Amino acid sequence: MTISRREFISAGATAAAGIAVASSASAHTLVPSAPVVPAAPAARPVVIASANGIRGVKTAYEMIVQGADTLDAIIAGVNIQELDPEDQSVGLGGLPNENGVVQLDASCMHGPTKRAGAVGCLEDIATPSLVAKAVMDYTNHIMLVGADARKFAIDMGFKPQNLLTEKSRQDWLRWKARQNANDNWLDHDDDIRIKFTTGTINMNAINAQGDISSVTTTSGIAWKVPGRVGDSPIVGAGQYTDNEVGAAGSTGRGESNIMVCGAFLAVEFMRQGKSPEEALMLVMKRVIEHSEKRLLDPNGRPLFGLTFYAINKKGEYAGACAYEGDMFAVCDARGARVEPCAYLYRKEERPRMPNDA
Ligand code: ASP
Repeated sequence: MTISRREFISAGATAAAGIAVASSASAHTLVPSAPVVPAAPAARPVVIASANGIRGVKTAYEMIVQGADTLDAIIAGVNIQELDPEDQSVGLGGLPNENGVVQLDASCMHGPTKRAGAVGCLEDIATPSLVAKAVMDYTNHIMLVGADARKFAIDMGFKPQNLLTEKSRQDWLRWKARQNANDNWLDHDDDIRIKFTTGTINMNAINAQGDISSVTTTSGIAWKVPGRVGDSPIVGAGQYTDNEVGAAGSTGRGESNIMVCGAFLAVEFMRQGKSPEEALMLVMKRVIEHSEKRLLDPNGRPLFGLTFYAINKKGEYAGACAYEGDMFAVCDARGARVEPCAYLYRKEERPRMPNDA
């Protein structure tokens, strides 16, 4: 993992200061001092993520308790999904756009240094989360997109590769062949259901010092219009961190999240004193209030999936969604596990959605 010159210098300066303080203190200690009570940690370390981050939260948590920076740890966590060809919602093997091209989005925020980085519509680089961090670490900008983001990544040493796996290519061809009865593609005989996936991984972490970071990375909505950028690389929508308050992020229909700046809004609700769960439920309600009619059923319920995740400065956390059933991944001293998201409507109240298989 790279470390920026700024971080390196400040880490070195802190370590040097620590040595000076320790030696001057021992030089003046003539009588035994009172037993040292270690300062209570500012927070309990915890890492949360979308459910596909179940392996990643464990990796990130272990790194954090060993002293790794929160952003380095969660990026290592999401790299597992980005590099896993079986996860068709992110990185290598992500489902492509309607032209069969994999275009990736990612963003990250580092709470303690108040920095952010993002990439949109990035092709050929499997780990957009790391490219987003490189934008943060090495430029005066926050977001790079398209061909220039790719060029930036290659210049920074990332290796381009074909991200369209055989499985995703086949799914794309099947999807294309079934667009309508009159198209010039013959339907396959097999009965494989073509997934319209949403996926993505969002991960948020706090360490014992109370430092917080967040990251979101995705291949976006499957079969999207080429050039489409979702919520994941939008700071304040796909993820957001305020080191004084907490962090939040999302997976699911990005357009609906962008409309409410969901991650920022969740952090603002937490700033007002709401718990992570209360904050996320308010964000979900705001999403629905702010949805155009075609996206809601006759009862005003959403015809799309969207899930939010949040942690606060105390290490409290939650996931929330519209319909009962979504889970999210957590790792803390009790180990890695999935927990149910809070929800607005019971399973039975979920309408049939246009993209249901
Ligand atoms: N939020 C992502 C996007 O809209 C997709 C997803 O989470 O599935 O690009």
